[in-house]
Amino acid sequence: MNVVFDLDDTIHDKSASLEKCGGALFEEYLSETEINRQTFVESFVRENYVIQAKVEVFRKLALAYSFPERVETEMLDRFDNTFHQFSERFDYVSETFSFLRNEGVQIACLTNGRDFFQRNKISALGLEEYFEVIITSGEFGVKKPDQAIFKFVIDSLQVNAGSTVFVGDSLKADMIPAKKLGLITVWKTDDKTTNPEYVDFKLSHFREFRKLWEAISLGAATSKS
Ligand SMILES: [Mg+2]
Repeated sequence: MNVVFDLDDTIHDKSASLEKCGGALFEEYLSETEINRQTFVESFVRENYVIQAKVEVFRKLALAYSFPERVETEMLDRFDNTFHQFSERFDYVSETFSFLRNEGVQIACLTNGRDFFQRNKISALGLEEYFEVIITSGEFGVKKPDQAIFKFVIDSLQVNAGSTVFVGDSLKADMIPAKKLGLITVWKTDDKTTNPEYVDFKLSHFREFRKLWEAISLGAATSKS
């Protein structure tokens, strides 16, 4: 068995990291202004969840809070170079990775985003050593949900889709294309009610991963016999 993990909001607690980073940017550049810290941090987190270039994020914040272009440029630069330092992984992620490694499972990461930015986060999260393969859309040239990038991970690991599990938080970018290619899909979500046909398993907290792994292994054994 092999497991491919999405990064942001799957193993990386993106909203917690953004909140800390937004607070630090506020302290550094805006604490002497009239701007309210909490409102700024909220806008910062929200804009970073919109799929748009980071230049756009800081452009919009500068317009909304009327800070000068110099601050806008410096903030963007600071964000690009330091965001990984604020990165936090979800609880029990490293325990899960150690467990999988002990089970002899190959682990890969497939993430959308700029190559340096995503890789900096992975190494700051302390997870780099676990990954056999790390693929970023920035380096590969196409983004999830394009199936080509999923095929590339499977080929890089030299495995079959059917014996590979994909763990991700996005139905559109992770679950649908993974299922179409025949991978076993695990949706990282707090959603208790939605059960899309292309989701095989749900995971709300990595605390429950070992139990989930037993179910997956059982399913894989049954489908083989
Ligand atoms: Mg994600």
